[in-house]
Amino acid sequence: LYNMVQDLKGNIRVYCRIRPAFNAETKNAIEYIGDDGSLVILDPSKLQKDGRKVFQFNRVFGPTATQDEVFKDTQPLVRSVMDGYNVCIFAYGQTGSGKTHTMSGPSGGSTKDMGINYLALEDLFEISSRRKDIINYDIHVQMVEIYNEQVRDLLVEDSSTTKYPFTFSHLPQRNIFKLCARENGLSLPDATMHSVKSTTDVLHLMKLGEVNRVVSSTAINNRSSRSHSVVTVHVHGKDISGNILRSCLHLVDLAGSERVDKSEVTGDRLKEAQYINKSLSCLGDVITALAHKNSHIPYRNSKLTLLLQDSLGGHAKTLMFAHVSPEGDSFGETVSTLKFAQRVSTV
Ligand code: ADP
Ligand code: MG
Repeated sequence: LYNMVQDLKGNIRVYCRIRPAFNAETKNAIEYIGDDGSLVILDPSKLQKDGRKVFQFNRVFGPTATQDEVFKDTQPLVRSVMDGYNVCIFAYGQTGSGKTHTMSGPSGGSTKDMGINYLALEDLFEISSRRKDIINYDIHVQMVEIYNEQVRDLLVEDSSTTKYPFTFSHLPQRNIFKLCARENGLSLPDATMHSVKSTTDVLHLMKLGEVNRVVSSTAINNRSSRSHSVVTVHVHGKDISGNILRSCLHLVDLAGSERVDKSEVTGDRLKEAQYINKSLSCLGDVITALAHKNSHIPYRNSKLTLLLQDSLGGHAKTLMFAHVSPEGDSFGETVSTLKFAQRVSTV
């Protein structure tokens, strides 16, 4: 049933979310938010007609939208995983636009305002218990980070990762691995797999992942915004007649999409920026190719799309959150985020 509703709407959805303004004094670039998914932005530095741009998405969440409201519109998609569908949910946008807020919620360990990662797992547990007489579900979680096209496990409890100072190259090499062929249906055979049975298990893993991500970001400037983090939820179900169902839900907090000025950055920063640019544009190419039902889908051009290959396209469902800041100062980045989102959208 969850699927029937979703299938009617197609397999790629794009939602836009605008975070609250930090400072009420700054000029706002958001002119109109429609209930139908339309959005009008206006460049406050040129208050004429040509500074106005109109976009159309499946939904737009304004600055006052709560985590629960956002989750409510995401829930049918999350639930379809329990029926055997693969689902990818992405958070895209410049650094500071609210990606981590949407996916994880505010950091600091409180369970208030939890994001989609937590609410999704909580919901899967709920469905699992509701259906326990007809299907037996097992849920496992993996979490990795992709930085400069290297994939690293974020759920390894390793005391050496808490020592610093260190840089990325000092991280335990065994945590970094290659993506291999997906023999047993696992796209990340070497990343640790953790069984989760309750929201307590989930909180523990999220904390570990957060610590491992933060530890590596102390060395390199704001590293966590320069890497993609991918939480993969594996669902395995067996019904009373022995039928097996396997599916996964990928929850992706993407690296900041802001363009860096090539004349200002050099060395590692430039390399970093080039990797991010390349992987985000590859992701855009893959989703656009899927939206247009092209025969060739360029999965192999980045680690991210390679990792998600089985869950992008086919019967899989994709949801992209385009995050924007409301401030006029961010107008340029806002336009580029919304253009990217519009390109991958089919509305
Ligand atoms: P990103 O991950 O895109 O860099 P963050 O999620 O870290 O951005 O958000 C930047 C800051 O804005 C954080 O302090 C976060 O708590 C706050 N923030 C983002 N979105 C919201 C929101 N919808 N409501 C309240 N605070 C938010
Ligand atoms: Mg973030």
